[in-house]
Amino acid sequence: MDRRIIVCGAGFSGICMAVKLQEGGFTNFQVLEAADSVGGTWRDNHYPGAACDIMSHLYSFSFYPNSEWTQTYSGWKEIRQYMERCVDHYGIGQRMEFGKEVLMATYIGHQADQVARHGGAQWLVQVKGEEAPRACDYFVSCAGPLSRISVPDLKGASSFAGPMFHTGRWDHSVPLEGKRVAIIGTGASAIQVIPEVAKVAKSVTVFQRTAAWVLPKVEKTYSGWYRALLRWVPLLLWWSRFMIYVRQELITLVFTTFPTLVQRLESQSKRFIAKASNGSEEKRRLLTPTYRMGCKRVLLSNTYLKAMCQDHVAIVPTTIDRIDPTGVVTVDGTHHDVDVVVFATGFQVTDVTTMHGVVGKHGEDIRSVWSSHGQSALYGTFAHGFPNFFVLVGPNTGLGTNSIVFMIECQVQLIIRALKAAAAKRAVTIEARADVEVKFNERLQKQLKGTVWLSGCRSWYLDKDGKNTTLWPFSTVRFWWETSTISLEKHLLFGSTTS
Ligand code: NAP
Repeated sequence: MDRRIIVCGAGFSGICMAVKLQEGGFTNFQVLEAADSVGGTWRDNHYPGAACDIMSHLYSFSFYPNSEWTQTYSGWKEIRQYMERCVDHYGIGQRMEFGKEVLMATYIGHQADQVARHGGAQWLVQVKGEEAPRACDYFVSCAGPLSRISVPDLKGASSFAGPMFHTGRWDHSVPLEGKRVAIIGTGASAIQVIPEVAKVAKSVTVFQRTAAWVLPKVEKTYSGWYRALLRWVPLLLWWSRFMIYVRQELITLVFTTFPTLVQRLESQSKRFIAKASNGSEEKRRLLTPTYRMGCKRVLLSNTYLKAMCQDHVAIVPTTIDRIDPTGVVTVDGTHHDVDVVVFATGFQVTDVTTMHGVVGKHGEDIRSVWSSHGQSALYGTFAHGFPNFFVLVGPNTGLGTNSIVFMIECQVQLIIRALKAAAAKRAVTIEARADVEVKFNERLQKQLKGTVWLSGCRSWYLDKDGKNTTLWPFSTVRFWWETSTISLEKHLLFGSTTS
């Protein structure tokens, strides 16, 4: 099958897409990656302590299981190396072009003259630094929502005299030994980096807007013999992965269905906080969240709370007013002297205005469509008005408690099904049916009503209008089942001519 396909991004989604396109017999595709190597979020997030909070045997491709994980929750480097091995194993490196940032993809399928001029192509993809756009039949965005860092626009930030960087762009040339370090944020990245910085810094001042619910992490190192056993007995590796999957599904069920069990987990976390605070009533109070557990991502760490309770680590719950050359000033007028400022302030997940542009058949950019109406797509993958455009880790495909790699695989197999169906029908375009997409999203939003994610906290799960456009609200088994079995004809429009 020689339809021209351009895939944007070489993280987990881009690699999975490339492997499955190749296996599916598609011979004419390229993966364009803005950076100089594969890895996506695991290439960019190399801050001290960066690791996955989903167990590695599950946080990997089902088709490329890895017996060699050295621990239950692997660090960024091991995950990145796994991704690189996967690229080599499937020989898809030759499909990848690095340093190619996609700026804009424009649908031209509705303009007969343009289609004719570009050899029947449906999309034009503008790459930074290239004069002529690249023509293709399908455009797949695998850019991922965690690729766009979020740095708050704080007054005076540019006047700061010392180093200042985001966890997602860690500057390893800055030594932190003996320094006074400010860390802004207490989310998933912060709880990993704070214990590491606290080991070497003279002082750490953590600016906490909202306390995080933290539970202990089952950290185990896999011994050489255990890894050898997994290598020799693939069924055991599969079983290990399956059991982790079942465990994560049960955790999801607890948060969505059993509030009394969540209360128990809250009590466990409070005991964990009390133990770590070691008699300091102030630290205990500051570290205790005041919203329901699960509303934001529940964080796993055995070191964070202890680190936060060390004498040289200060927790500042007061809002930041500005940054000046020598430190951070809070709204109560207190000046916090620091040498280095670290933003652990997350990603622009729901703010789509900074993603690459995608202009559909009505001439509208998906960034403005999604900004004004909220992100939505059929199975987070197909958007009406954007024929032959597929998005990976799109709207409402995120998970709070399970592996996103599982969702990526489901989306990719759905796209491959659609591409094969289009080839069999000799269809030129694939597009979500408008009414089906609307109903699908109504079903999601109905299910999301009353869930813990909408129980009143501020989180990156919610967009500026308070709508949850990031999480899949059902079980992941259901996502797999529906994406594997839905009737493509009932959900998608296959166009035999240009639309
Ligand atoms: P995050 O969870 O969005 O946390 C950002 C933190 O910055 C929050 O504590 C937030 O406070 C705070 N913040 C934002 N703007 C601020 C401001 N102007 N002033 C003070 N504080 C501010 O971001 P993240 O920690 O980078 O994690 C994002 C996601 O990345 C995670 O949920 C996860 O999916 C992924 N991640 C995963 C891992 C892993 O182990 N797999 C590790 C890192 C990241 P509020 O809570 O008040 O908003």
